[in-house]
Amino acid sequence: MIRDLFQQKKTVFSLEVFPPKKNSAIDTVYNTLAGLRDIPADFISVTYGAGGSAAQKNKTGEIAGCIMREYHFEPMAHLTCVGSSKEGICQTLDELKALGIQNVLALRGDKNPDITGPMAFNYARDLTAFIKEREPGLHVAGACYPEGHGECDSLEEGISHLREKVAAGAEHLITQLFFDNDCFYAFMDRALAAGISVPIQAGIMPIISKNQIERIVTMCGASLPRRFVSLINRYADAPEALRDAGIAYATEQIIDLLANGARGIHLYTMNNMTTARRINDNIRSIVDSDR
Ligand code: FAD
Repeated sequence: MIRDLFQQKKTVFSLEVFPPKKNSAIDTVYNTLAGLRDIPADFISVTYGAGGSAAQKNKTGEIAGCIMREYHFEPMAHLTCVGSSKEGICQTLDELKALGIQNVLALRGDKNPDITGPMAFNYARDLTAFIKEREPGLHVAGACYPEGHGECDSLEEGISHLREKVAAGAEHLITQLFFDNDCFYAFMDRALAAGISVPIQAGIMPIISKNQIERIVTMCGASLPRRFVSLINRYADAPEALRDAGIAYATEQIIDLLANGARGIHLYTMNNMTTARRINDNIRSIVDSDR
């Protein structure tokens, strides 16, 4: 279980994959997983498509089960309040239990006017408490936002809500992606000062295409350090150079985070096995030296 990993290791390194989009075959994610199998990841998480089709939603447990059975990684299934009724959540928890999945990332999900379905709880905190009461043995993780969350007025308020989520049972946290490590360090200081002492993994997304940066930044509002912007502008029209520069940037970010004592790295792979493998090659000796 993930809680044991944090007790056994100084640095926990994980990967995130997502179920195939609506019209893609399920095999595409299995091809990705086959390409990731040589990476000694401590766990692999699978996102939950709050806004996706029912078919896509149901794939999270199935893929997480396959990660464990076929690829022998510890799996973590994401689960959102948005788009889920309480009954639906109970059903999902039962499915995960039957599959032997012991780790859940409890999320609120993004509010979206196109999702007209139920919303079991208003906040991830309440979903966390519900899961811990129903399934006390499960490892429940939560999301956090070094640069704040769009719906929250201040960083302080965000930390106060995060403290409630941890009090409700979140045993470890994974950050939203960021490109400026100083934002992460400042967030860690605020969290510690607020008494949040659970392990926090830094979420890192390698930027390897121009489209990705435009989409991602609009979505999560991460601040862009000057040297990151120069890199994007300079190589925007040279896809291979941009990919290599993006991998180098993410590698440097990770090395700096590990050197400064981050308890874990969560790599948003975007189902790109080549990028994940290259980053793993770049950082492996450093991660291993921290064990
Ligand atoms: P919450 O912790 O509930 O916070 C949501 C907002 O409410 C915040 O602004 C918070 O400060 C505020 N808040 C919390 N408690 C209170 C309170 N008591 N009173 C008032 N305000 C409060 N989305 C998906 O759809 N599927 C995924 O698989 C997925 N995976 C993710 C993985 C990670 C690591 C991260 C960082 C995000 C992921 N997301 C995913 C996106 C996430 O669902 C959104 O960012 C969502 O808007 C917030 O989710 P949360 O769990 O952080 O919500």
